[in-house]
Amino acid sequence: MTIINEKAYKILENSIVKNAVSHFYIFHGPKNVGKKKLAYIFSKLLLCDDESNPNTSCDSCPSCKKIDEQKHFDILHVDSKLVVEGLDENKSDQIRLPHVEEISRQANLGPFMSKYKIFIVDEAEKLNNEASNAFLKLLEEPPSSTIFLFLVNDLTSVYPTIISRAQKINVLEIGKEEMKDYILENYDLDDLKIDQIINFSLGKIEVAETLSSDPSLLDNYFESYERFFEFCNSNISTRMELSQKFSTRFRTDRNAIYQELNLWIDFCNILINNSYQNDQNSLFSNNLLDLFEVKQINLFIFEIIKSISNLRSNANSRLVFDVLSLNLPFTKEESAI
Ligand SMILES: [Zn+2]
Repeated sequence: MTIINEKAYKILENSIVKNAVSHFYIFHGPKNVGKKKLAYIFSKLLLCDDESNPNTSCDSCPSCKKIDEQKHFDILHVDSKLVVEGLDENKSDQIRLPHVEEISRQANLGPFMSKYKIFIVDEAEKLNNEASNAFLKLLEEPPSSTIFLFLVNDLTSVYPTIISRAQKINVLEIGKEEMKDYILENYDLDDLKIDQIINFSLGKIEVAETLSSDPSLLDNYFESYERFFEFCNSNISTRMELSQKFSTRFRTDRNAIYQELNLWIDFCNILINNSYQNDQNSLFSNNLLDLFEVKQINLFIFEIIKSISNLRSNANSRLVFDVLSLNLPFTKEESAI
């Protein structure tokens, strides 16, 4: 089995070997980098029933199997969407006090059948103030045999007092070779597809898994890239026409536009990475690097992030896309017109 995020994994494995398992961990790193996957791998190490090899997981005992099916009684997966008592549905996208009250209630019951009760809190930066304070209280006297695993994309959004109480595990993007081994081992795909997936996933294992399970998604990525290329390679009047289209789309399906803009940032990162690594094999037949310099592509990222942030703060979408049209660098040819 290829172990991904090996450095983080080793730290966790060591804590078990040395009998020094902490009751509170924060796994932090970019979105989709594999924090959730690592949390379940660690849970398996902790809960595996096979005592003959205490520092590994067997993948075949009832406990390991239940974890793979995400049905283990002693693991509670908490996110802002979890329905708990006192919270019929959560419209706020925050993790709120009733969530922490549920964690506390279950933690005090202790594990049903295992050595530990594990709480995996996904996107824990979404704990609101009330929930954060309640969680800090819970940490003051954590019920025994309880392990809290916080998965955090953005550490700066978490209470510093909470951060200071946790053992922090940095989960990083993985390298291209490691990614290739992992895909080869787990999926049956041809070389071209594997290469495309490695490029698009930017070291993020969860993106690679999604694309490997459904390679037809790659078509959407390429279509989005073509729209991006067209937008960048246009003169101002064409950009303004496209701007109108995007803003109309935004009014009917804002998530699609957020997704699109985030993909555009990914494309820029792919292009920049490939240029630094002198990667000649181009993922895209229309290569923006033939038209722009790397520092201009960096500027694209900055402008797109600004647009996303303005859209999120409810700026007029037409205005946002018009500004983006004006601020993105033009090709030499177009700027000469
Ligand atoms: Zn097992």
